[in-house]
Parts: sequence; C-alpha cells; structure tokens
Amino acid sequence: MAGWSNWSGRSRSERATVRFARSVDDVAAIVAEATGQGRCVRVAGAGHSHFPLVPTDDVILDVSGITGLIDVDTSDGIDRATARVYGGTTIAALGRPLHDAGVALANQGDIDRQTIAGATATGTHGTGWSLGSLSTAVRGLTIVDATGQLIRCSPDDRSELWRAARLGLGAFGVVVELELAVVPAFRLAESSITTTYDELRPEIDRLVRSHRHAEFFWSPRSDLAFVKTIDVTDEPARYPLGDEGSRVAWNYEVLPNHRPRLHTEMEFAVPYESSLDCLDEIRELLTTEFTDVRMPIEYRTVAADDVWLSPAYERSTATISVHRLIEFDDRPYFDACERVFRRYGGRPHWGKMHSFTGDDLAAAHPRWDAWWAQRDTVDPTGTFLNDALRAWRT
Ligand SMILES: Cc1cc2nc3c(=O)[nH]c(=O)nc-3n(C[C@H](O)[C@H](O)[C@H](O)COP(=O)(O)OP(=O)(O)OC[C@H]3O[C@@H](n4cnc5c(N)ncnc54)[C@H](O)[C@@H]3O)c2cc1C
Repeated sequence: MAGWSNWSGRSRSERATVRFARSVDDVAAIVAEATGQGRCVRVAGAGHSHFPLVPTDDVILDVSGITGLIDVDTSDGIDRATARVYGGTTIAALGRPLHDAGVALANQGDIDRQTIAGATATGTHGTGWSLGSLSTAVRGLTIVDATGQLIRCSPDDRSELWRAARLGLGAFGVVVELELAVVPAFRLAESSITTTYDELRPEIDRLVRSHRHAEFFWSPRSDLAFVKTIDVTDEPARYPLGDEGSRVAWNYEVLPNHRPRLHTEMEFAVPYESSLDCLDEIRELLTTEFTDVRMPIEYRTVAADDVWLSPAYERSTATISVHRLIEFDDRPYFDACERVFRRYGGRPHWGKMHSFTGDDLAAAHPRWDAWWAQRDTVDPTGTFLNDALRAWRT
C-alpha cells in the first residue's frame, strides 16, 4: 500500500510503501528484504510526531499489529518492578493491564494515543519536577537490526547501546519489545484554577516544587492561565471522571487528556532557572507581533536525566510549547519563537517542529557524536536513516 500521513496531515509520504507487520518474524523479514534492496525503512508508531521523522519514499513499517503487555516482573519487589511490553502498544492500551498487575507508569504525556516505542523514541514526557521522560523508564530494548537479527541491550548487556537507543529516533532499528521501570499503582487527584498571568508568575516555582505534577496553559487573547496541579491521593476514584482539572482516579485515568484540534507544535526544553524569562519573551511576541494566534502556550517541567539525546540531559528543565492550528502558516510564528528559544539554550523536542541543523543539534547535545557512533554499530549501511536524519549527520 502506498502513502502515509501523520496525525495532523502536515507530514506526508505519498510514495512510501507501507508494510504492516504482524509478528517479530514478519518485521525481521521485511527489514532484511529492504536492506537487501538498498531501501530505507522508517518505523511508524501512532504518527503523532509533527516533525517529519517518519517520512521516506521507501518503506514505512507499521508495527501497530505487535502490541500488548507481555509480563510484569516483581521478583525484586513491587518498588523495583519492570514490565515487558511490545513496541507497538499504545500508552492507552497499557494503562489497564499494568493496573491489573498492580503497577503503573510513573508518568506520561498529555495524551495516551502514542505507541510506547514511538513515545520513548522522541523523549515524550509529561510534567513533574522530579519525574523524567518516558525514555528514562526504559530498562531494556529488543531491536530488529538492519539484517533482521534480534539485538538486546540493557544496563548489563551492551550498555552503551542501551544508553543511546533509549531515545533512538527510529534510527537503531525496529524496537519490538521494551522493558520498562514501573511503580506501584497509584491514584491521583487533580486541582485547577484559572488566573491572570501576573498573579500566577510569582507562584510558579512554588507550585512546581510542591506538587507531583504542575503545568499551565496561558491563553494569549484573554491573558488567563489554566493551572493544573496533580498529587497522589488516598481518596477513592470518582466516576464519571469529570473534566480535565477535576478528576480523582487511577494514574492512567487522570493523566491523559483529549486534544482533538488538529495543530502543529513547537516545543523547546530550556534550563528551568531561566524558563520564566524565556516565557515572558514568547508572551511578548504574542501580545505585540502575532496578535492573531489564539492557541495557548503550555509550560511543564521535566527532571534532569542521563539519556544521551534527551532535551533534559543533565539539566532541570522546563518545556515551553507553542501551537498553531493546521489551517494557518505556522512558519513566521514558529521562527520567531525559535529565535527566542535559541537564546535561552533551548533544545527542541524531537517529535515537534524546529529548524535545527546537524551542527545546531551537535552543539545542543553533548553526546551527539557518541549517539551516532552507537547507532552505526547496529546499522552501518544506514537502512534506518531517512533524508531528515541523514541531513543531521555532522
Ligand atoms: C496531540 C498530541 C499531543 C502530544 N502530547 C505530547 C506530550 O504531552 N508530551 C510530549 O513529550 N510529546 C507529546 N506529543 C508528541 C508525541 O508524543 C511524540 O511525537 C511521539 O514520538 C509520538 O509517538 P508515536 O507513537 O505517534 O510515534 P511516531 O510519531 O509515529 O514516531 C516517532 C518516532 O518514533 C520512531 N518509532 C516509532 N515506533 C518505533 C518502533 N517500534 N521502533 C523504533 N522506532 C520507532 C519513529 O521512527 C519516529 O522516529 C504529542 C503529539 C500530539 C500530536
């Protein structure tokens, strides 16, 4: 079948051959065949990346047929439990089976439609002062390499490969299985207020540090911020769940939201300490130059981590996201925002729009060269590189 499109329809491959794999053996055969023909293979998850990571004119491999929770290992205690899952499993489909096994993901993003392999491949994150991205939960990976062989990596087995491939951009091969750190299942209670930005600004640091999760959406046309905080609770779950900002239920029921309006998005990770100054400059753009933009800015925090290409690599991070509905040209607005983010040492979200070159990315990511060196060990001929990734190679 030819043709592929992402969630928003803005990232497309009209000429790609789309292959739907139904088993790991099927993946191995498809990849080996493509490599033999000198064709590129890009894996598609749920297509929720705005940046054209997936498009190629060669083969797009859809692994949504290889899904499910394999098992949960609590042999080292429930606090050190791990779960083995198939790469094509959506985060939505993981919530209930993990819960039934008494465990949960420690955190997750705004929505749960992404596949777990796709989400970890770009460093997808939620919000939380002490909480890392989904990539930080990866304890092991099983990857089909360019020859169709299965490779496993973990902290104890090809550890350098594991360090790099936890956030792999689909460039190491097809992640068919992941081992994830999980935590005992927990309930969350959400609170929310709507306030002016001037009232909110002096409170942000306190909110961020005193709640398990804190975030806000600032709307440029009203100058109001919708502020959400979420904490662990012993209260019983309340059904029906209620609106965003008022839910009390299990983690996987409270954290994901409904985001139906098709848009494109740019997000940069900036050092936490200077993030509000950066946000002030973005707000200034919206009140002086881009007065037609209605979509809000989202502000979240992510803990520092050691994942090589993570936007939060070795620094406490705030992420600032700007959005534009797909019917508008996002370039002038995003270009202006990116100039501000660059001045604050911002690192782009891998799944969202940016115009960083390979040199820019190398300057932003201290382990850039090491990441490429590890990648090349499993795909020396470049089967898993499309034009976008090749262009970044420095
Ligand atoms: C409405 C919306 C809300 C979002 N909310 C958030 C959020 O809260 N936080 C956040 O950080 N991001 C968010 N994102 C971005 C999104 O989480 C990332 O772009 C994520 O990577 C998408 O996952 P996916 O399964 O759709 O993967 P895709 O977009 O299909 O692919 C992403 C990358 O993963 C690779 N990949 C996919 N599957 C595999 C596999 N099995 N093996 C190897 N590589 C693979 C692809 O090749 C590609 O490089 C959001 C996006 C949208 C559209």
